[in-house]
This record gives sequence, structure tokens and C-alpha cells, in this order.
Amino acid sequence: MQFLFALRSKGITDTRVLTAMEQIDRAPFVKGIFADRAYEDMPLPIACGQTISQPSVVGLMTQALDVSRRDKVLEVGTGSGYQAAILSKLARRVYTVDRHKRLVREAQANFDALDLANITSMTADGSFGLPDQAPFDRILVTAAAEDPPGPLLAQMRIGGIMVLPVGQSDHVQSLIRVTRHETGFDYEELRPVRFVPLVEGLGSE
Ligand code: SAH
Repeated sequence: MQFLFALRSKGITDTRVLTAMEQIDRAPFVKGIFADRAYEDMPLPIACGQTISQPSVVGLMTQALDVSRRDKVLEVGTGSGYQAAILSKLARRVYTVDRHKRLVREAQANFDALDLANITSMTADGSFGLPDQAPFDRILVTAAAEDPPGPLLAQMRIGGIMVLPVGQSDHVQSLIRVTRHETGFDYEELRPVRFVPLVEGLGSE
């Protein structure tokens, strides 16, 4: 309850997003010594030198993505799996990819334990998207690229939305929302954020 109150005070007002976040306990996604800090609004370290995002940022990104029950969603950057689990409560189907197979394996174990059967996780370089499953209604990228990757723009459905951080990894980045129209793309800057970089190729573990 206190967790939800904190989210509301940070601008997450969409009740569907708040309900989804209420249904997914963050603690199983934060392992080891940081598990007791799962309910604090801060990013925390996970395996492979990566981070689970701050809950209020997860909420704001999910809200900006405007997901509906009919949507097929791609998430690039599975990490802990926390964001994908929340998306699974709002979407028809969620595809989530990470370049580290260990993270994908651990996230999938959590999805199985929570019975989140509409998530498909895969080890892949997500900057190329998932051509076999395209087009997507919604795409969420949780690692920062300098520009929106071309293959992801190409895999958006007309009317689709993509939310992603852009900018150099050691600087403050901007969270942007891209909307695809019949004739092109609209770009909207939402807020400054800080994410780990989108890295090419697969990880070593
Ligand atoms: N959404 C996550 C947090 C992601 S942290 C959560 O809810 O916990 C960013 C993730 O992006 C890291 O796990 C990193 O391995 C992954 N990543 C970075 N570059 C990538 C790429 N090219 N393809 C797929 N995943 C990538």
C-alpha cells in the first residue's frame, strides 16, 4: 500500500498500471543482499553487472506505453524480468529479450513460478528486434541507445508506440515516446532518465 502511495506521488495515475504493479511483488526479482531493499524506490544491482530499474520509472514507462489487452509487446532488456512481469498483466502477449542468457534463465524461472504464461523470453541482441514476431503494437526498450534503433522502428505497427531512453550512456538520457503514423513517426520527449547502455552482441554469461 505504501509502495502504491509512493508511486502515485511520483506521477503514476493510471489505475491499470497501479493495479498491475500491485499484483507483482518486486522482491523475487531482486536477489541476494539487496532483497530487503526491494520496496524502496531505487534501482538495484542484479547479476551480470546490470540493474533492476526504479519502480517509479517502471511505472512511468509502462504508463507512457499505454498498453491494452489486445497488444503484442516487445521488451528489449529483460534484466530481472520485473518490467516484463508488469507488462504481462496489461498485454495479450509479451516478448522479452536480453543479451545475457543467465538473466533470461533467471527471469523465466520467476515467470514460471508466478504463472505468467503470456511471456516469451529469449536470449538475443534486441537492437535487431524480433523480426519473426513483428510487427509489435508496443515496444519498450530498457537500455539506452544513442538513437532509436532502425530495426525497432521498422517493427512497429502503424498506430504503435515505442518508449525508450536515448542518449550517451555516461550522460543523462531522455526518455522518449515514438508513435508510428501512416506517413512517419512522431517523437515526444518525456523526462530525463539514466539507464545502462544498449550493447551490441550477446553477453558472455
Ligand atoms: N527491464 C529490466 C531492467 C533492464 S537493465 C528489469 O525490469 O529488471 C537493461 C538490460 O538490457 C540489461 O539486462 C542488459 O543486459 C540488457 N541489454 C543491453 N543491451 C542489450 C541488447 N542489445 N539486447 C538485449 N538486451 C540488452
